[in-house]
Amino acid sequence: MSSDESGRQRWNIWKQTLVQLDPFTRVLFLYQLKLYFDRMMERHVKSFQGYELARMISLKEELDEFIIIEMECKKCNIYLAAFVDILSYLDAIYLKSEMKFYKSKSRKLVESKPYCEKCNTKLEFEKLII
Ligand SMILES: [Zn+2]
Repeated sequence: MSSDESGRQRWNIWKQTLVQLDPFTRVLFLYQLKLYFDRMMERHVKSFQGYELARMISLKEELDEFIIIEMECKKCNIYLAAFVDILSYLDAIYLKSEMKFYKSKSRKLVESKPYCEKCNTKLEFEKLII
């Protein structure tokens, strides 16, 4: 079995387990996962200004179901902080599904395309795994 297949199977079992949890425990578990990703992401962030601003918005607006990731345009060499639903992020990594991500505009989350606004190159992000 390939590591991709193993990861996919493991993630599917996690998701099935999450559905079976009572709502309160599920929220607590997802929040723990969010904190875990925050700690991991801190070690990989290149542009702290945008990342920390996004974290502040996340805390203030209580966006508990979102994690903040840093997306990169390798052509322009710029980094952008983006909000991603935790489960959508893990689906994108393990199931190779398209990830929805959001930017903050006037403290509202707006769905965004994964392309650089300057050069239209597809943005890349680091795939941190659990
Ligand atoms: Zn670009």
